[in-house]
Amino acid sequence: MTPRSDGRSFDQLRPLTFQPDIAPHALGSVLASCGQTQVICAVSVSEDLPPWMKKQGVTGGWLSAEYSMLPYSTLDRKARDSARGKPDGRSVEIQRFIGRALRAVVDLEKLGPRQVTIDCDVLQADGGTRTTAITGAYVALELAVRRLQAQGKITDSPLRAQIAAISVGLLDGQVLLDLPYVEDKDAQVDMNVAMTSAGEFVEVQAGGEEATFTPAQLQEMLALAQTGLQQVFAIQRRALD
Ligand code: UDP
Repeated sequence: MTPRSDGRSFDQLRPLTFQPDIAPHALGSVLASCGQTQVICAVSVSEDLPPWMKKQGVTGGWLSAEYSMLPYSTLDRKARDSARGKPDGRSVEIQRFIGRALRAVVDLEKLGPRQVTIDCDVLQADGGTRTTAITGAYVALELAVRRLQAQGKITDSPLRAQIAAISVGLLDGQVLLDLPYVEDKDAQVDMNVAMTSAGEFVEVQAGGEEATFTPAQLQEMLALAQTGLQQVFAIQRRALD
């Protein structure tokens, strides 16, 4: 086996930490760090519901996410969407992924008539920014839910389970967990897996880059992601308890 760029074993996570209350004005926030990747995840709650919910008579609340890379988060400065005058397609795709992942574990009826927005801003990018965003967003959301309970706005927690995500990939025939940029850019297959702590998948994004993969390799990658995610759930729990 070829050694990894940072000396980890194929099934080892990068160090994963959560610094709580990084954005004091948000109801819940963390700086989620996965190796060199750092994402600020901040939860805001508003009592205004989106107009489409009122129009369609949908009860309960809503949750959505926004994702962006800060200009200095990448090696070459990345222009802000506001300066470019149009949204970045990649960011739109990623923020929808984050929203779907988080909504999968939230009982929107129990949330009540309020709108939760989770802002995920990448402070430093080194691969796995979307997975780190999902994993950190959950921790920030649980902190926000505790505050809503402390304020007497909700009694029962609307959180059904934890949600986390991790990347796996295939590089030179080797299945690897949690890829940094140097591995990600050369990987033949890149896969992002979002799963609940109840052991169910929310989303699996897998794609070959000028390459294909076999059903057996897909199973191997999924199994590695599941093993990695068990550790991620435990790290989230430790941070929260
Ligand atoms: N990246 C970058 N600039 C970009 C997009 C990506 O530098 O505009 C780098 C960054 O390190 C990112 C990595 O490429 O983490 C992998 O990007 P990908 O689109 O696969 O998303 P991610 O793995 O971050 O979820």
